[in-house]
Amino acid sequence: MAVCRRKVVRFRSTLERRNTVTITSNSAPCTKRRITLRTPGYVDGVSVELPVVVVTGASPGKKLVVVATQHGREVNGPAAVYRALQNLNPEEMTGEIIFFPVANPPCIRMQVQDFPMDRNRALKTGPEHNPMNLNRQWPGDPDGSLPQRIAHAIWNAGLQDADCVLDLHCWGATTTALAWGQQEAEPFVTAFGFPWFQVHDRKAAQPGMLESACAEQGIPCVVCEMTPQNVVAPEMVEHGRRGILNLASHLGILPGSPEHPHPRYQIDQGTAISAVAERPGLIVSRYRAGDVVEAGETAAELVDLETLECLQAVVAPERRILFSVGRSWGTGQLDYSVVRAGETIAVLCGVAREFVPEIASDGSVGSD
Ligand SMILES: [Zn+2]
Repeated sequence: MAVCRRKVVRFRSTLERRNTVTITSNSAPCTKRRITLRTPGYVDGVSVELPVVVVTGASPGKKLVVVATQHGREVNGPAAVYRALQNLNPEEMTGEIIFFPVANPPCIRMQVQDFPMDRNRALKTGPEHNPMNLNRQWPGDPDGSLPQRIAHAIWNAGLQDADCVLDLHCWGATTTALAWGQQEAEPFVTAFGFPWFQVHDRKAAQPGMLESACAEQGIPCVVCEMTPQNVVAPEMVEHGRRGILNLASHLGILPGSPEHPHPRYQIDQGTAISAVAERPGLIVSRYRAGDVVEAGETAAELVDLETLECLQAVVAPERRILFSVGRSWGTGQLDYSVVRAGETIAVLCGVAREFVPEIASDGSVGSD
């Protein structure tokens, strides 16, 4: 049984048939390379090999790292990486982009969020309650659990000297798709260009999250929760693809300026209004999560499943974003439009800032 306990994590190239290259070595200019990263040693008889793609530009510059699929049922991330890679020409790049498109290979095949199981992970979210949640293990431990070893391998292979990290996730479609970053990362969150975004205080992130580990090292981190889980949504893939290229442009890795062809809303969650069901019923809405609801409009209705009459109407007191509609996300709870008494029908949030569409005149970042 081969056991790898080296301090320096090594790549084994699968495309170029090299023996090993360290992550700290410089890649050849103008290359796209596919590499396999192996977790250190075995834990419970398991070791994992992660796919890595390194795109190196014509000359040295900034380094962007993209991590996707920390959780197995969040498949829009690798789809966005796939699309972005189709648009990247190393000869046009200055610097490097490293992709970890499937950070959690066993989970994506098992159709679960965490290895070996994700039961009850949403009930208590602190790291002590989430020993299997990869996004509570950063920067990892080479002698720890499998998710701790995955975090360690990725952190040491590419993240620790990044100029920006993008962490792609997905949550259920009852909640607005959302990008965020901590205050130091605000220019990167803005450049990313996702239609819905927030800027957080550092205390908003829990210990062990990738964004927390990045903040400790002073690395700007953009987190993006696309929707839904389990299936690929074309519009989300396009937002993710454009966001990756936008961050590369913002860092000077790609020429030109970020493109923002859609309206963007900075959501003020401090103004959130939750409408709670007074009785059980079916939620019916003309809107999807993320839509703008104008003042006085009915955001959602709670319908009695016996009489088919409206039990409760949720009306926007002013222009707001429908932040969630339906039972909220969480493993062990299906996204569901039927609620019991006491559960949330909808959450409406104010808009802190609103941006109109804008497109770079030089067209250097292409759209599909
Ligand atoms: Zn996730």
